Amino acid sequence: MFAAMRSERVEALHLFSDQQTGLEAVVAIHHTGLGPALGGCRYLAYNSVEDAIADAIRLARGMSYKAALAGLEQGGGKAVILRPPHVANRAALFEAFGRCIESLRGGYITAMDSGTSSADMDCIAQQTGHVTSTTEAGDPSPHTALGVLAGIRAAVRARLGQDSLNGVRITVQGLGNVGYALAQLLHADGAELMVSDLDHGKVRLAEEELGAQPLALEAVYEAPCDIFSPCGLGGAINQRSIGLLRCAAVAGAANNQLVDIDMADQLDARGILYAPDYVINAGGLLHVALTHRGVAHGEIAARVKQIGERLDSVFAQSKAEGRSPAEVADRQAERILYPDSAFLNPLIPA
Ligand code: NAD
Repeated sequence: MFAAMRSERVEALHLFSDQQTGLEAVVAIHHTGLGPALGGCRYLAYNSVEDAIADAIRLARGMSYKAALAGLEQGGGKAVILRPPHVANRAALFEAFGRCIESLRGGYITAMDSGTSSADMDCIAQQTGHVTSTTEAGDPSPHTALGVLAGIRAAVRARLGQDSLNGVRITVQGLGNVGYALAQLLHADGAELMVSDLDHGKVRLAEEELGAQPLALEAVYEAPCDIFSPCGLGGAINQRSIGLLRCAAVAGAANNQLVDIDMADQLDARGILYAPDYVINAGGLLHVALTHRGVAHGEIAARVKQIGERLDSVFAQSKAEGRSPAEVADRQAERILYPDSAFLNPLIPA
């Protein structure tokens, strides 16, 4: 376990168990050098405690990188509650977890993630103030969409050499909370939209409201466009889809867009610019982190728009150094996280 912590540079790992509610939870705190660790709380069934710990460690590290490149004075952490086969009282379970968070005295701030809801966060908030994305904090999706819009603008600047989105052809895959809000923003800026979703109702709405062209689920990859924007589930860029893409750039909200890191180089080799997912979709993190600090809505939006400038810098460095934007983003994050350290990702030359 210590070897895994060392290799991922995890600062602390906490295991919690509560007999009364059946709570079994893991909190991984990856980095607190810039501020308290912040990251979502998953509530999922795992095959083993080891799997849950590995997930918490991997995700906590990702949160540190995301927060660093979002310009937040915040570290990365993640919690995993092992979902029991039967739970007698869900509210009591999350309240018990709230007491665990409180015992960490602010070193970790929790938030909503897979399997949890803002109502669960409200239960945690009964026991600790170190929780965000409660009902009161509001839905982060509009800020995520705003950040993706800024990122798409950066990709358009880099690949098409223009500031305006007028007439730019953009395929949005997934019209959920983020994807639909993004499509509305893109439409308002004059983009030509093509859309797909598992839910025909959402596609029909985009057709009627935004004049979007509907695409069949599998047709999204090969439809010629300027920007392909994955806003559904992860893994949109995989061995099968990568060869089909006919776009200048991939820039979307989904987490874990690349099925593996080799895809970053393959996109580069095909001349397709990739906006690293954790950089472009950081608007949601900015929302939860800054609402927790009581920052005003207008200031949060201004910070979210800076995602565009961050991506300008990633794309410029990528071009200058001949490395993929994904590599460049990781390296920029590591410089922020470990300014005094000789730490270098072995995959990334100095
Ligand atoms: P959501 O569940 O509201 O929407 C996802 C949409 O994608 C749904 O409408 C679903 O029908 C559709 N979809 C799923 N698979 C699809 C497929 N193969 N083809 C076409 N459509 C498909 O989720 P969301 O909150 O909008 O988040 C979208 C993505 O962005 C997720 O990967 C999420 O992890 C990521 N993300 C969201 C936020 C946020 O603030 N909500 C922040 C950061 C990242």
